[in-house]
Amino acid sequence: MRLSFQLSTRGCAHGPVHVLTSSGRAVSCPCFESSAHIIRITLEASRILIVEDETALAHLIERVLREEGYATHTEFSGEAALAMVMASEPDCIVLDVGLPDIDGLHVCSLLRERGFRTPIIILTARDAVPDRVRGLDSGADDYLVKPFSFDELLARIRAHLRRTAPTQEILAVGDISLDPSAHAVFKSSVPVELTDHEFRLLEMLMRHTGKVLSRQQLLDYVWGYGIEPNSNVVDLYIYYLRKKLDTDTSHRLIQTVRGAGYKIEA
Ligand code: CA
Repeated sequence: MRLSFQLSTRGCAHGPVHVLTSSGRAVSCPCFESSAHIIRITLEASRILIVEDETALAHLIERVLREEGYATHTEFSGEAALAMVMASEPDCIVLDVGLPDIDGLHVCSLLRERGFRTPIIILTARDAVPDRVRGLDSGADDYLVKPFSFDELLARIRAHLRRTAPTQEILAVGDISLDPSAHAVFKSSVPVELTDHEFRLLEMLMRHTGKVLSRQQLLDYVWGYGIEPNSNVVDLYIYYLRKKLDTDTSHRLIQTVRGAGYKIEA
């Protein structure tokens, strides 16, 4: 759950009056008439991505989650789910295994490879032990066998959101730190402006500190599919990042690994 608000008390004799409604809509101080006094509150619900190709079940899950106050988005294929997560990382993913294109477990391992730590609850009709093991090995956090109870699904979503919510993740390598939730980067505690692509490239490297990532992995994550595999766009953006953040040529944090790709390491 994210909470943000702006308030304006210009000309108000009452001073700021904070009134939170359960719906999170704009509320006001007692002298409501003047718009200058309105406190605007946006209460953003946790966002759950549902990936399920059985339309009726997908809509049912969607309805149950919305009734619980979650914001939902539904995708019906693995490719669409991957693109969705890359465009806007949800707070939790409910992921069916049997999808028409990429197997849900493969979607799960691809997301983990790309550094996403979003809680993933796998849904499957298979109840065999090896399938459960395979599900958890692919990086899923939880596993529900169809038919499942919605109360159980809701309880598990709540548990995973509780687990992930309070920690504010800050990635740090050397004197560079990156705050994914604030979309902010600092060098020796001084903010550095990055473009969106530069930010995503740096985030991907920092989420895999010490590991070599190929140009193709970086390309897929930062630019998505549909870019020429031989494109030198990754090299170009590494150059931009170094210029902004990694100017000490005697001790590079962003390192070129010949024939393999790039890694970041202190
Ligand atoms: Ca299915």
